[in-house]
Amino acid sequence: MKLSITGRYGKYPNQNGATCGYVAESSKGTKIVLDMGSGSLRNLSKLMPYSDIDAVVISHFHGDHCADAFVFRNIAVEYVKSGVWEAPLPFFMPNEPYEEYAALKSCLGFDSIVIHDGCKFTVKDLELTFYKLEHPLPVYGVKIKEEGGKVLSYTADTVMCDNLLRLVEGCDMALVDACLLEKNHTPQSPHISVKEMAFITRDIPLTALTHLEKGQEAQILEEALSQNKNAFLVEELKTYQL
Ligand SMILES: [Zn+2]
Ligand SMILES: [Zn+2]
Repeated sequence: MKLSITGRYGKYPNQNGATCGYVAESSKGTKIVLDMGSGSLRNLSKLMPYSDIDAVVISHFHGDHCADAFVFRNIAVEYVKSGVWEAPLPFFMPNEPYEEYAALKSCLGFDSIVIHDGCKFTVKDLELTFYKLEHPLPVYGVKIKEEGGKVLSYTADTVMCDNLLRLVEGCDMALVDACLLEKNHTPQSPHISVKEMAFITRDIPLTALTHLEKGQEAQILEEALSQNKNAFLVEELKTYQL
């Protein structure tokens, strides 16, 4: 399996970066887009034709994870109407907040699938298992397993919780929320600290740091490496082999 990066920042895009977006790809070529933050769709178009995508997962409805999904609707409608896609695209998402869910569900280019804690789905040769995590909005991490192959765990945005430990357990690469330095973390923070995330993933072969805070990249990496020698910052438009 491979992972490509279409956006690595949290909050909002900047001149050199988009917000959260990734593509997990099996060795047989099945491609699942994980989140579509603002600016990520443009990067996605540089990596592959939109028509190659087999499914989309939206972890939660904060704009830095879903803004471009509301633009991707236009592409999906065009592709279904013109026959580029034989059927609507499988589109996994929470059903809360309802307004955002309903706006995407109404798109005839999407086959909308509501995710819940513990639910499992198969997309060609990839198996997806969802884990409800904790954040101001309902959010789901996803474990993606390739048939007879590697496992990728994506945490999206979360605080520390038991399900986060279950999500990253036994994976080959953890793609993790790494925006909040320990010195800025409080019990009320909506995110885990970089230090704690790096610690709980210290035995995983690859800890890919994402959802970065612009200007703090070097400090984030330094804090993560203090706990976990397998941690690295992801870079947009790059592809990593699991
Ligand atoms: Zn976020
Ligand atoms: Zn969020």
